Amino acid sequence: MSLLAVGTLAFDDIETPHGRAEMVVGGACTYIALAASYFVQPVQLVSVVGDDFPESTLDDLRSRGVDLQGLQIMEGKKSFYWAGKYHRDLNSRDTLDTQLNVLADFNPIVPPAFRKPDFLMLGNLTPQIQMQVIDQLEERPKLIALDTMNFWMNSAWDDLMKVIKRIDMLIINDEEARQLSGEHALLKAANIIHEMGPKYVVIKKGEHGALLFHEGKTFFAAGLPLAEVIDPTGAGDTFAGGFMGALAARGDLSFAGMKRAIIYGSAMASFCVEKFSTERLADLDENLIRERVEQFAELVNFQV
Ligand code: AMP
Repeated sequence: MSLLAVGTLAFDDIETPHGRAEMVVGGACTYIALAASYFVQPVQLVSVVGDDFPESTLDDLRSRGVDLQGLQIMEGKKSFYWAGKYHRDLNSRDTLDTQLNVLADFNPIVPPAFRKPDFLMLGNLTPQIQMQVIDQLEERPKLIALDTMNFWMNSAWDDLMKVIKRIDMLIINDEEARQLSGEHALLKAANIIHEMGPKYVVIKKGEHGALLFHEGKTFFAAGLPLAEVIDPTGAGDTFAGGFMGALAARGDLSFAGMKRAIIYGSAMASFCVEKFSTERLADLDENLIRERVEQFAELVNFQV
């Protein structure tokens, strides 16, 4: 099974109660591709960077089996930049700055070899670009998932509504689900989002886990209590990448298969927050991931 991942490769400035990380590598697609690469090979990537993006990060992605044929490198331009500051609870944050740079006039080109992916993960990005990617595919993937955020709801609502109509699954956090639907109760919010198009809705609740809604059924994946959270940046994207990777590895789209993949996504996100930037995601292996998934199973295991 193949997975096509689209989203930002970025520089981030991050401030958490544990310290600061300046101009570190981030971006939705970086996290998605790294997380998914533990389950599915190759991960096909479509994105854009300036000529300031570190070659060493691109080499790391290549060495993890990420195919970068769809990456455009714009000479003389700067990569996407985001700055954020986390509150003391580490569950909420303020965006201090977003500089689109190369993203402002990005025209995504899906290479011919990437036009029939089994799975498509549209990471957080301009809705119009997400749409342009769908338009270039030659066959409809088995599942199209999309992540977005308040930034795009505020600046590109109409385009967002158009692309949301064409996807199977929306993956967003609780605050964004409330903004998108105008409903506070997440069950009602999910129902309103279903009406916008996606038959699956995943609502991430930061350290408190994630909910999956589909055809009247609900699944809750708990968040694993961790001794220390250093940097939550990218946890949502890592969740999405781990989820899509695990789904693509088995190709099981039953509700049970979705539940299993959600736990794999949660496990990958629990690693991501243990260090700044993508550092923790670079040094995992199958056994560590398996052990973490077993901890998730143990956490909610009880006799009725
Ligand atoms: P997450 O913590 O999972 O929401 O993802 C954080 C990552 O998303 C950071 O590494 C940022 O570079 C990237 N990011 C932040 N804002 C945006 C945006 N408006 N569009 C695309 N990517 C973004």
